[in-house]
Amino acid sequence: MTTIMATFIACGGKYDVHHETRLLLGTVIEITIGHPDEGLAREAAAKAFAEIERVDALLSGHNPGSEIGTLNAEGASEPTAVSAEVFALLERAARIASLSGGAFDVTIGPVMDQWKFDEGGRVPSDAEITAALAAVGTGKLQLDPARGSVHFLSPGMKIDLGAIGKGYAVDRAVQVLRDAGIKSAIVDAGGDLRLLGSRPGKDFWRIGVRHPREASRLLLNLELVDTAIVTSGDYERFFMDGDARYHHLIDPRTGYPAARCQSVTVIAPETADADAYATAAFVLGPVEGLGFLRDLPGVEGVIVDAAGQLLWTDREKLRQ
Ligand code: AMP
Ligand code: MG
Repeated sequence: MTTIMATFIACGGKYDVHHETRLLLGTVIEITIGHPDEGLAREAAAKAFAEIERVDALLSGHNPGSEIGTLNAEGASEPTAVSAEVFALLERAARIASLSGGAFDVTIGPVMDQWKFDEGGRVPSDAEITAALAAVGTGKLQLDPARGSVHFLSPGMKIDLGAIGKGYAVDRAVQVLRDAGIKSAIVDAGGDLRLLGSRPGKDFWRIGVRHPREASRLLLNLELVDTAIVTSGDYERFFMDGDARYHHLIDPRTGYPAARCQSVTVIAPETADADAYATAAFVLGPVEGLGFLRDLPGVEGVIVDAAGQLLWTDREKLRQ
């Protein structure tokens, strides 16, 4: 755990904004806190970072000692007990899998492994994709609430919480800030953001979302209060093979990257949901994805389709 930057930006009035950045969850985590007491803000940020580390240690599929690591190793041979926290997150993921008609599916693990994005990426053969897809499907994930256990009904099944875990960690960090008496903050885990209240002295936080094709250009510049905002994009983890871009948002129906969007931004009360909804809408594509987001109460979104066109759930509701 290293603090790579800790700055205090005075922003006028009696409030300071405390800003700290750390590398966790394989990404840059930024916590911004508006509070007049710098010591209290610093302490609250430390607790929030510790909470993110705790969640990472629980959920990381790469860590064989994590609950998900153990489940992935043992879940196919027998029903495996998990903590109430992990069980609740898997139930939530299963609910979103069902809502999205399977576009969001945390059992995508075996297919992700074939693409080897962590090693620079490679295009698997059709046979490899077909074999990996045989172990994918939330329908083959048996959750037993009475026992708090999880059973994989297919050998080779593997949970990958990459599309919801970061959002969940952000929600937990915000809860820890709240418990510490903070009423104004941003927790940003590499584009998965949750806002607490508004910026001191203002009645909103101003949040910029990058353009999917030009990193230095802003696609959206929104005024938001007390909400989560998450973007899934084909520019986050990808490799090029000739002119083809192979990215990490996989359509569980085909095993290949979903090709009909460049990015999807979702605004929802909780980050875990916004995270999963953004991935789901991306996979569904602009038309179905927009319908999916519009049907979710309290959720707004902006989709950039493959041609770079913007589609809004309801433009009037988002103050730019
Ligand atoms: P996000 O950046 O939140 O859209 O999540 C992307 C990550 O989620 C990928 O790197 C994979 O680990 C995982 N993933 C990819 N495709 C899917 C999918 N269709 N459903 C659920 N998780 C996925
Ligand atoms: Mg996501």
